[in-house]
Amino acid sequence: MARLPSLFVSHGSPMLAIQESPAHHFLKNLGATLPTPSAILVASAHWESMGGPAVSVTAKPETIHDFGGFPQALFDIQYPAAGAPQLAARAVELLKQGGFPVGVSTSRGLDHGAWVPLRLIYPQADIPVFQVSVVRGATPADHFRIGQALQTLRDENVLILGSGSLTHNLYEFRGQHIDSAVPAWVSEFDIWMKKCLEENDVDVLLNYRSLAPYASRNHPSEEHLLPLFVALGAGGAGNVRHLHSSYEYGILAMDMFAFD
Ligand code: ZN
Repeated sequence: MARLPSLFVSHGSPMLAIQESPAHHFLKNLGATLPTPSAILVASAHWESMGGPAVSVTAKPETIHDFGGFPQALFDIQYPAAGAPQLAARAVELLKQGGFPVGVSTSRGLDHGAWVPLRLIYPQADIPVFQVSVVRGATPADHFRIGQALQTLRDENVLILGSGSLTHNLYEFRGQHIDSAVPAWVSEFDIWMKKCLEENDVDVLLNYRSLAPYASRNHPSEEHLLPLFVALGAGGAGNVRHLHSSYEYGILAMDMFAFD
């Protein structure tokens, strides 16, 4: 059995679920290029915890519509994948062994950082899904170590998927069109990140906030970039493959990467 890579996907706006775009089409075709996993572990920007990572051990996670002001069609979407309580319990043990205080949730459902990309990648919803949170106030290096601690799940045919956005400053969204021009403060940061990722320069990446151009302008808060470091750590800091690049609304870099 081929070992699964870990992935980072940029999920952009919740409209990605139903609105056609290059990123939408890329994700629709991605599942066919991957071995079928036994389960999927999503590190989502939309689940933040305090103090340490949390893991969902929910058996039947509900679909959470954690957004407002979008069309009813988005609220009607259900992603009825099962949970994976046994693998989730194993993830809890691995994180404890990695030295993290770990929270466990028996009721947490799937947030849109999980189901929006998964519904495109695996529309049948027939692969069990569980989630790990990002930790508010913890560093990129902490999230890299969370990914490293979870890495052996890849040997058990678990797909580790970080879901965030390579750039994400929604304060700069002023109703612009999906194909709107990309300002330099977005593209310069995006290009810097891609170069460091393609060169696999982990030490520099983990210090992106002081080294990258316009880092805090692209990520006023870090939760949409932290899943990248989980995926990078879970990939074993070996090979990095840049899978997709596009922009939406001028401010969202929709880059996707595989790590193995
Ligand atoms: Zn998001």
